[in-house]
Amino acid sequence: MLPPGSTIGILGGGQLGRMLAVAAAQLGYRVHIYAPDRESVAADVAAQHTQAAWDDEHRLAAFAANCDVVTYEFENVPVETVRFLSGHVAIRPGIEGLEIAQDRLAEKQFVAGLGGRPAPFAAVPDRAALDTALAAIGVPAILKTVRMGYDGKGQARLASADDADPAWDAIDRHAAVLEGFVTFAHEFSVLLVRGIDGETRFWDSSVNVHRDGILATSSLPPPPIILDQQDEARALMAKIAAALDYVGVLTGEFFATADGPVFNEMAPRVHNSGHWTIEGAVVGQFENHIRAVAGLPLGDTATVALPVVMRNLIGADIGSLPALFADGTAHVHHYGKTEVRPGRKLGHVTWVGNSPA
Ligand code: AMP
Repeated sequence: MLPPGSTIGILGGGQLGRMLAVAAAQLGYRVHIYAPDRESVAADVAAQHTQAAWDDEHRLAAFAANCDVVTYEFENVPVETVRFLSGHVAIRPGIEGLEIAQDRLAEKQFVAGLGGRPAPFAAVPDRAALDTALAAIGVPAILKTVRMGYDGKGQARLASADDADPAWDAIDRHAAVLEGFVTFAHEFSVLLVRGIDGETRFWDSSVNVHRDGILATSSLPPPPIILDQQDEARALMAKIAAALDYVGVLTGEFFATADGPVFNEMAPRVHNSGHWTIEGAVVGQFENHIRAVAGLPLGDTATVALPVVMRNLIGADIGSLPALFADGTAHVHHYGKTEVRPGRKLGHVTWVGNSPA
């Protein structure tokens, strides 16, 4: 058990790091943010900040020497960075989950190997392979880059085989995976936290609605089909977490289909679809992630009241802040980002025990 006053290092300086830092501070820990970006909204609320490149071994070693444990808020931290740090300080969760989550193909193979059901998929390492994959998978389909995809980026939809060339160009001709288009009723996520001793707890699944490939809302209670499929999806995520000897919060995104839950992707970190847990659960994802990596007992993940609605503030949505502040029942989170851009996540707002007007 890491005593209060210890320092938790976080790789990545975005809003997830910011909310982790707030939770860590509440438990008496100091936080040291390491991120290459000029703007770090996590560093604004942390005790220490190193702004340096992911491959700066000198700065990484100094960071490790200053931390009692290191975690990450960003799944595209280079694996080499984490490998280097792991020679100096404990990293939780470990490197294996990160490595798998960074590679869409490896992730699907890993999950299928554990008995999970991803959408039908085929590897597309080059343009010629796309034709073979289309013949096998059919249309409609989605071409997704193997690496660095998030919030619908690095994806192209194909309605017919004629879309092959434009789709290949749209993803900048990177190695990819072709996925069959899944007909789903709803999207949901399974959010779990696993402690150092293997104890695993789940939050209730929310129904997630995306707009332009970006999460727009997460709400509870979810429709009955999600309640029916939640246990099967949880069992898969528990298997994944155990196979990785995972410590911390792990997220799985699923499609609820007529044939059961279809695995979409996982994130080895706290997740946007779990933001509602800050106020909507007894102990939320950020505090429980810090508890897990610090070796503390896990907190209760039960939902405190229904309904719960979490709405993202994306781009111009931030203009609704005055109205949200005027609504005394809205829990407003502003991430402190200075630049407003379309599609950029700038904050979120949560209602617990009531719905937004
Ligand atoms: P992803 O970045 O893979 O989570 O994809 C972003 C969003 O695109 C998902 O949340 C779905 O709404 C949609 N999507 C992704 N893959 C599929 C698929 N195979 N079939 C249907 N919709 C998909």
